[in-house]
Amino acid sequence: MTLKAKIAPHITEIIRSLQEAGYETYIVGGAVRDFLLDRTPKDYDISTAATPEQIKKVFRQQRVIIIGRRFRLVHYYHGNEVVEISTFRKAPENPQKMIHSKTQHVLPENMITHDNDFGNSTEDAWRRDFTVNAIFYDPVADKIVDFTGMGMADLKASVVRTIGEPELRFEEDPVRMLRALKLVAQYGFRLDSATEKAIHDSRSLLTHASPSRLTLEMEKILKNTYGDRILRAFQEYGLLEYFLPYLSRNWNTPECQYLLELFVCRNQRIMDGRYRDSISLAMAMLALPFVERSLRASEDEILWESFCGIENDIRNIVLKVFNPRCLTKKLMISAVRILMLQPKLYYSKHPGKMLDNPGYPHSRELLMIQNAVKWKRPELPELWPVLKERKKNPYHTGRGFFKKSRYRGKKDSRHESGPGKYAASGDDDGLKLGF
Ligand code: ATP
Ligand code: MG
Repeated sequence: MTLKAKIAPHITEIIRSLQEAGYETYIVGGAVRDFLLDRTPKDYDISTAATPEQIKKVFRQQRVIIIGRRFRLVHYYHGNEVVEISTFRKAPENPQKMIHSKTQHVLPENMITHDNDFGNSTEDAWRRDFTVNAIFYDPVADKIVDFTGMGMADLKASVVRTIGEPELRFEEDPVRMLRALKLVAQYGFRLDSATEKAIHDSRSLLTHASPSRLTLEMEKILKNTYGDRILRAFQEYGLLEYFLPYLSRNWNTPECQYLLELFVCRNQRIMDGRYRDSISLAMAMLALPFVERSLRASEDEILWESFCGIENDIRNIVLKVFNPRCLTKKLMISAVRILMLQPKLYYSKHPGKMLDNPGYPHSRELLMIQNAVKWKRPELPELWPVLKERKKNPYHTGRGFFKKSRYRGKKDSRHESGPGKYAASGDDDGLKLGF
């Protein structure tokens, strides 16, 4: 199939409308990379010469909102799908020395703390992280534009190469190191040697990266069906000790071995369309082996017995596993609830009231994952019926029309796991950074 034929018609229409209004516009980023690799991208990123206000004017008749205070962009609603349209940016001209607002540390000299100056298409491409992520595609003219001149060749050779000096690019934004390894883990790419050396030399810069950016990355990894491989790559390149230090310290333990097996099984179940990519479920799954280690009376016992105060113990273990990433209260409550229900589901013979528990669908899924990896009891799936999660309208808050989110969430109905079967429970919206 040609590249043009792979693009969803409404995306081409959005781009055509902007171009007809006189604004240069492309599909950019991961979507182009994924289509060229013959994969289905999670979502589309569109970049244009139009400012957010100008975009809004072009789509006067459509559901379009400008979001973000510092990094302003546009959300275009196509049914349930949110298409993000951003204005071309350029690299900030004079990065200033900054003090970290929370730790009061002086940040590395070249660290970028704002990235919101509008620019042209060439500038926009050159400020991106890797050559394979800087290929632009115009579906109207059916034209690929490889501004760096290396994106297509690197994509063909499966190479991750920073645009410009790798040390500088990682100092500007240490999260790029994690992003490089995600490409390695997810696509089997290799790092070009200068990029690899720079990761080796710059890993400790991750301590200066914005905590909220790191937390967003973590949540994306927990949703990702290559999450286990990503964690392995982080450990191999020495980044895990800065990202999730508890897992890194425990890497060679049976608990970590077990959580990776669970992770692989969970991913397969998502890819088979059996369940969706819940973040809170993944959190519970990663903490489970450590909860077992600390709360099981003996190694022979399956799971653990409930006791007064267990909720607090479980919460503390989850916090320890994910420290220093700060988790939202909602995710935390959900993960603890999933873990609390595990022994109740396993030991109980009667589903009864437990089916009404809002944590039941995720808890059942975690039980099934453990069963597939460890217990292998064929009757277990029959005991516990599959229930759909309760539906929530992701855009309706009861007050305003659009949900106010910590993230600029987007969901593409084409790629929901378990094709539209599981409604977003609200615990894990799609995540988006300011790029
Ligand atoms: P995916 O969405 O499949 O995880 P992606 O590459 O599209 O991968 P996004 O986070 O959606 O990742 O970012 C979109 C694009 O924005 C990237 O492809 C890249 O061009 C650019 N980008 C993202 N993060 C950075 C960064 N830290 N520095 C520079 N450019 C970035
Ligand atoms: Mg993307």
